[in-house]
Amino acid sequence: MKNHNIKKKLFDGDQEDLIKFGWSTLCPHCKAKISFKTSDAISLNQARGGTLEMVIEKIPKLMIIALGDVRFFKFENLPVYYFTHECSNCSEKIILVAGMGEYQPTRFLLITAGLFSVNNRPCS
Ligand SMILES: [Zn+2]
Repeated sequence: MKNHNIKKKLFDGDQEDLIKFGWSTLCPHCKAKISFKTSDAISLNQARGGTLEMVIEKIPKLMIIALGDVRFFKFENLPVYYFTHECSNCSEKIILVAGMGEYQPTRFLLITAGLFSVNNRPCS
């Protein structure tokens, strides 16, 4: 599984705007536009098993703090979240990983860390 992401700051602002924030990127498989919104974020700390473990291994500079059997992830000093999406054009499953949270008091950042195409079918 390949990481197609180029690290990019998507958001820098206050919490109220972050909660409503959405953005789009290109499907790594068919280049169709795919959309994400921050309200769909799932904490990477909850990730267990299979695909997400492979994703975790492929993100450069991802910090993993293990306390017993609990793991905490940090990217650019931010808590880490993932978003899943199925491309409506080619039905490829996409996982996007991003650091998101309060960077300085009242200042919130969203920075992409990884973009993965899960099915990994050859391009047509
Ligand atoms: Zn696609």
